[in-house]
Amino acid sequence: MVHIQGPIQRVNSELRLSIAVPVYNEESVLPELLARVCAVLDRIPGGPHEILFVNDGSSDRSMHILERACDGDSRITVISLSRNFGHQAALSAALDHVSGDAVVLLDADLQDPPETISNFIDFFKEGYDVVYATRATRKESWWLRVCYGVFYRLQASLSATHLPLDAGDFGLMSRRVVEEVRRMPEQHRYLRGLRSWVGFRQVAVPVERPQRHSGQSKYGFIKLRKLATDGIFAFSLLPLRAATLMGALAVGLATTYPDYSVYAKFVLNRVPQGFTALVFMLTFLFGVVLFFLGIVGEYVGRIYEEIKSRPLYVIDRIVGRISPDQSNTSYEVDGRRATPQK
Ligand code: UDP
Ligand code: MG
Repeated sequence: MVHIQGPIQRVNSELRLSIAVPVYNEESVLPELLARVCAVLDRIPGGPHEILFVNDGSSDRSMHILERACDGDSRITVISLSRNFGHQAALSAALDHVSGDAVVLLDADLQDPPETISNFIDFFKEGYDVVYATRATRKESWWLRVCYGVFYRLQASLSATHLPLDAGDFGLMSRRVVEEVRRMPEQHRYLRGLRSWVGFRQVAVPVERPQRHSGQSKYGFIKLRKLATDGIFAFSLLPLRAATLMGALAVGLATTYPDYSVYAKFVLNRVPQGFTALVFMLTFLFGVVLFFLGIVGEYVGRIYEEIKSRPLYVIDRIVGRISPDQSNTSYEVDGRRATPQK
């Protein structure tokens, strides 16, 4: 367990907890998830608590199951997005609509055990603003574990912000942290990094990460690559600085070798043989140039996305109890279209 700063005792004991769950084609997990999350909420004093599901454009029966759950339990609200916007956008939609004093982000596939939440709350009551889970063990395939391990370490070494190792989005945030994260207008969101950036008192809790309950991972290679690049490029300018360094090295190389060639020709009286060396140098240097052009392109692409400032998500409808002033968009409440009052 990592303590970043000493705790303060939180005065407020009447806690209202929000649990936010992004859902993308999780029909097989939802019944078990609902049962376990509701059982956990039943045991937490205070309230009223809420469970906010964000249906991220599911094409299976997830929305149907969630709507039925909503009918039977007033604590449940479902925000349905107009299409699949991705995990981080779905989490952002949830953060824009939660109302609790503390908010827990939880994956739907039960890889984040809901029972851990009571442990998070203990730390919250001690005065921590962020309580996040680090993966004590992972049950993914060995190559995915190696990739995650390399990625987190690379990212931590590149980043100026302290980014915790092996931490996902699973964790608890106090209301003031949620408000700070919401103030960040970034399009390419890497929430666990933004949460870290906010600061205050943060603590890591090691949690066993079981295998997904059922169904397939919704993070294919492309989504995983996007998340990884967001995690690196949103928190570091070091790749750009590396380009400057490599450029300086190449200039050094480019001046010494021609100097040697002139010296060899006029002083040693021999023309250096070097077609192979030339081909090698050309391909190497062009490779380096193109590589760094790609890196510059990553930043330029991100600037372009930020300038466009499109909304992170579009809401189709909301089923449940959210009041209009909690929403930034127009939406339907129980089938009626409502206009938000700002
Ligand atoms: N998810 C989502 N939109 C997406 C992909 C995933 O809302 O486009 C949700 C998914 O339903 C799950 C969570 O994000 O609740 C994490 O996804 P997953 O478990 O597939 O990722 P993994 O654990 O394999 O990295
Ligand atoms: Mg998962």
